[in-house]
Amino acid sequence: MVDGQTNQAPNWHACEVEDAFAKSGSTPDGLLSDEIEKRLQEYGPNRLKPQDKQSPLMRFLMQFHNVLIYVLIGAGIVTSLLGHWVDSGVIFAVVIVNAIIGYLQEGKAEKALDAIRNMLSQQAMVKRDGHFVSLAAEELVPGDIISLQSGDRVPADLRLFKTRELRIEEAMLTGESLPAEKSTQTVTEDAAIGDRNNLAYSGTLVTYGQGQGLVIATGDNTEIGRISGMLRHVQSLTTPLLKQMTLFGQRLTIGIAGLAAITFAFGILFQNYSASDMFLAAVGLAVAGIPEGLPAIMTITLAIGVQRMARKNSIIRRLPAVETLGSVTVICSDKTGTLTRNEMTVSTVTTATGIVEVTGSGYDPHGTFMQDGLEISLEHHPQLHEMAQAALLCNDARISEAEGDWQMQGDPTEGALVTLALKAGLQQAHYQTQFPRIDAIPFESEHRFMASLHHDHNGHGFVYIKGAPERVLEMCSLERKGGEDMPLNQQHWESCINDIAARGQRLLAIAFRTVAGDKQALSFKDVQGELTLLGMVGIIDPPREEAITAVNACQNAGIRVKMITGDHSITALAIAAQMGIGDGVSVVNGVEMSKCSKEELQQIAQQSDVFARVSPEQKLQLVTALQASGEVVSMTGDGVNDAPALKRADVGVAMGINGTEVAKEASEMVLADDNFASIARAVEEGRTVYDNLKKSIMFILPTNGGEAFIIIAAIIMGSALPITPAQILWVNMITAVTLALTLAFEPPEQNVMQRPPRDSGEPILSGFLLWRILFVSLIIVAGTFGLFLWEQAQGSSLQVSRSVAVNTLVMFEIFYLFSSRYLLAPSLTHEGISGNRYALYAIALLITFQIIFTYTPPMQLMFGTANMSIDAWIRVVTVASSVLFLVEAEKLFLRVLARRKQ
Ligand code: ADP
Ligand code: MG
Repeated sequence: MVDGQTNQAPNWHACEVEDAFAKSGSTPDGLLSDEIEKRLQEYGPNRLKPQDKQSPLMRFLMQFHNVLIYVLIGAGIVTSLLGHWVDSGVIFAVVIVNAIIGYLQEGKAEKALDAIRNMLSQQAMVKRDGHFVSLAAEELVPGDIISLQSGDRVPADLRLFKTRELRIEEAMLTGESLPAEKSTQTVTEDAAIGDRNNLAYSGTLVTYGQGQGLVIATGDNTEIGRISGMLRHVQSLTTPLLKQMTLFGQRLTIGIAGLAAITFAFGILFQNYSASDMFLAAVGLAVAGIPEGLPAIMTITLAIGVQRMARKNSIIRRLPAVETLGSVTVICSDKTGTLTRNEMTVSTVTTATGIVEVTGSGYDPHGTFMQDGLEISLEHHPQLHEMAQAALLCNDARISEAEGDWQMQGDPTEGALVTLALKAGLQQAHYQTQFPRIDAIPFESEHRFMASLHHDHNGHGFVYIKGAPERVLEMCSLERKGGEDMPLNQQHWESCINDIAARGQRLLAIAFRTVAGDKQALSFKDVQGELTLLGMVGIIDPPREEAITAVNACQNAGIRVKMITGDHSITALAIAAQMGIGDGVSVVNGVEMSKCSKEELQQIAQQSDVFARVSPEQKLQLVTALQASGEVVSMTGDGVNDAPALKRADVGVAMGINGTEVAKEASEMVLADDNFASIARAVEEGRTVYDNLKKSIMFILPTNGGEAFIIIAAIIMGSALPITPAQILWVNMITAVTLALTLAFEPPEQNVMQRPPRDSGEPILSGFLLWRILFVSLIIVAGTFGLFLWEQAQGSSLQVSRSVAVNTLVMFEIFYLFSSRYLLAPSLTHEGISGNRYALYAIALLITFQIIFTYTPPMQLMFGTANMSIDAWIRVVTVASSVLFLVEAEKLFLRVLARRKQ
């Protein structure tokens, strides 16, 4: 075996941290910019070389790998053995042209999907110029310093030099699904990959804790890059629906082959056709019945749908989600950031002595403090000052100004607190050096608070805490009131919480305690019971206007919208009322949920629309409960702990901006703008794609049905074939690339969001669709055969009669295309005729093709066509237009029937 390690630099896991830094020529402060530039030149961007795709030739050959095509090739070979060179030539030509078209379309579809996948580029926290900044992972070079946090995907191979309960899931490398505990200690040289605890590998997922590491390898030099191929799985272009249709295609082919055999026997035994004539007829039947263009059309329809969704900020990660979206019955959405704008502003500060209102909006730190309608000065309110200090120190956000524009980096909730402190006149940089942070417990949705340990320069130590009020109140025994510490007045605070929450404000309590001046580490033990409550802040986070509209749209579409939040029940209820979610009074909180039995939970999940103080595991329980009641559930999420719920949901939706890599990994769809309105649009698109797939099936199959019946009818009647196999192939090929393809571009029907979700168990070939296929097939047979017989009766030559038949068939399709644009809605409207401009272009193109086909000598030679008179054309168009009127009448009848039923 080739040793992949030989050209590899040192065994990083076996060397001490200092040696690692020395070897990589870096320091804990990172690299200088010239050096970064140089290394980027040397090592190239930090990305994996794309997998060698199937070669173009192979991809082309794969186009022939299809039962439908095998049958055609078989027919072509036998036809040539029988000496019918023209027919066999045409069959092969069509097979090849069909493959080329399939190849081109598949290529386009794949490119579209690739482009969409690339939209999800990975970010990494890298130290540049002394600060950690968020950069595209591609820009990393060996020697960079990376900060890792739970939820991140490791952006390159790292030698860890700082860890805090860091746990990383490395299943993709080691197959071990339990996360590995990481540390900074060196391990022996011969340690296996799974035992190199001081390394973090590119592509693995941080499930807990934090850490910092030195980049030791990037791009293809990483472990994952070397065991190539593993991660670079190509997403297949298939979905349950496509599989269903492939199966259908196979069955259809077998059925048609059987039918062709019976027809062959019938023709020889009962009608005195010669064996070779009958064979040609059987071949004609086979090529007539086989919808060889359908698979490519369906693929392209899906790809176009995915592209359209991406343009509307919904990035599909797994193709089947496109179909599932159309049948979603419940959307469970996060509140913060998805339904609301996530632009947080502190609006009230409450202390034991009363409420102070804060003016100003956004992160702009211009604003004042008002009490009873009068502006107050913080000099007279030392407690407000102290709260501002706590809010600033127990915080990881930063606010900066660029040309009058205030920008926030970090968690919006924390950004609001920084702005509050700035309004109070505090300077972030000053306080951070004055009271350096020694340690911290970061905020997690699980424990709902954050704590930080600080020292001042006089040897004092203290801890600041901020978090959900119930949580913080549990930890406090005292409260600060006018400079004194008094016993905590629990009741007073509870009524405060209710008052502020009822205004729809998000609540945070702030508390504090002193600790020994030499304390170096903070643990959960340090924040139990002994704290002094300073007060509470109320934060406003206005609803997104477009989300309110979207919630309404979903409800009209028969989809229940449920709000899931970690916020207080009353806050949740107030916001839900503004959004039009729920009944305005019922709300379930996490504590109540945890006491429920499975059955009760299933009931609650159905009945309630607002869920507050919900933990990530409870999200999973909600999804499971809803699914148990038969719902098709979409669930949103952003954190590491949301991953199980996202995976479980039928359509897991991760946040693109605020979401972690872990959440994105687990989800079917990513919202580029974190906006609820995008989910609603994706549902609309999902329904449209499904409709369009139905429409293309509904359009294509009757042509095949009609053609097949024509041949069978001819044989039963002992007449000459109205259409030759070569002509049939021509029609199928030419209409598939023109007319049928335009249905993939059909815009959403007007009522897509006014009808209930599609039943997820419903087969695509519903009774309605089968009926429509049969109905239209019969119209086509009657018209085409009728005109053929009429021409024959008038004494026209076989060539002319056949030309009339072929053009009738094509004209039928042109008229039927307009009907097919809507499943049930009327097509004889201005919109119905001119609404899809691709359809009009395609028709113009098709008519041109037909004129060439009918009138040019080479085509006449090849396909046996002949010049037709104007009169004949008038008859053709008149007869063919009947399909439009007949189907419109049928739609009207079905609409009336549906209305009666209601
Ligand atoms: P959601 O995302 O649904 O709004 P979160 O889990 O983010 O819920 O927040 C739940 C509660 O935790 C908030 O109501 C707030 O009281 C508290 N909280 C939120 N963010 C922070 C933070 N950065 N530090 C401390 N506490 C926070
Ligand atoms: Mg949150």
